[in-house]
Amino acid sequence: MHCREGQPELIEITLEPHGGIRGRCSQCQRPAPSYDHLPERRWSFVPLWGIPTYFRYTPRRVECAEHGVVVEHIPWSDGKRPVTCAMMGFLARWARRLSWRETAQVFQTSWESVYRSVEWFVQWGLAHRELLGVESMGVDEIHHGHGLRANNFLTVIYQIDAHCRRLLWVGRRRSQATLRRGLKALGPEVTPGLRFVCSDLWKPYLQVMAAQAGQALHVLDRFHITMHLNQAVDQVRRAESARLRTKGKEAAQRLKHMRWPLLRRGSRVRGHARQKLNALLASKLATARAWERKESFLHFWHYKSPLWAGAFLDYWCFRAMRSRLEPMRKVARMLRAHEDLLLNWFRAKGEISTGVVEGLNNKIRVVTRRSYGFRTYEAMEIALYHTLGRLPEPESTHKFC
Ligand SMILES: [Zn+2]
Repeated sequence: MHCREGQPELIEITLEPHGGIRGRCSQCQRPAPSYDHLPERRWSFVPLWGIPTYFRYTPRRVECAEHGVVVEHIPWSDGKRPVTCAMMGFLARWARRLSWRETAQVFQTSWESVYRSVEWFVQWGLAHRELLGVESMGVDEIHHGHGLRANNFLTVIYQIDAHCRRLLWVGRRRSQATLRRGLKALGPEVTPGLRFVCSDLWKPYLQVMAAQAGQALHVLDRFHITMHLNQAVDQVRRAESARLRTKGKEAAQRLKHMRWPLLRRGSRVRGHARQKLNALLASKLATARAWERKESFLHFWHYKSPLWAGAFLDYWCFRAMRSRLEPMRKVARMLRAHEDLLLNWFRAKGEISTGVVEGLNNKIRVVTRRSYGFRTYEAMEIALYHTLGRLPEPESTHKFC
């Protein structure tokens, strides 16, 4: 132990090879005769009693019959990193609970070191994860950062089976090429085993999934449809609000602060917002009509048979087309064009649980928004696999967290 002014500064543990046991080849791990020594190295280990701790060791080189002169296998080390596997696992586990910066501060190391540890942990997990038995897949796009450039979108692939919900893949952009890249990365055995695919109406995804997983039932997720309806209501509200304001009418007051109450499910609006909503609905405003259209679509999800649901859909679209609300008509045209996919929701009822994709999306947003201070896109990607991938973890003799 090294101390300064009576305070422990660091602990160094010097390790020596057992005299009677030969070193092992780092390639094949078979015992081999010693060849020579490399200079002494130092690895940081998990801090003991809060004191930075290091291993010191002079690695041998061994002469393997098959691999020639190589560095011996060092069980606590992986590659050239000056950090023990135990410490990397320790930092990586804490980095799930704290931000990377906090983890670095608490354990007196650098952000870079935390990043490399998580990276090592995730890469081990990705290399050892089991992808057999993925039956339901959710594909979605997620917006992150500022602006609407292609790079501000992520394509995510989830497994959404009841027994396992996790992030399988994430990549930049939301094109056909992105999704194809993702499916390829998962390997050729995943897509043929799929029974259900869940996504939005985003065309590139529909096309790729139809081409690569034609056997799977493609379902449009309920929350995506609700999102399109909400967007339509919001467009009507904004246009009307602007129209009323130019006329300076009192009615403009009615639409003020109504964005969120209008977007919520009607039965969930309470209190003062409810009173305002009721007043708005009693008016003859276009926003009120749009809201009623949106709200009436809720019935659709209660049907049991695809046949009746189809009849309702036809009727709803007919009404929406006559509503003179262009955003609503746009939604109706879109729903009509994908009627088959929409009705698949009833064919898959009970087999895949809804809202899983939405839930996972929300978790992704927590990670991308929380002030983890990711300095690069790559770091963020690793953090996503780390928190949502449910990856297997390298074994360690001690778990500290
Ligand atoms: Zn060897």
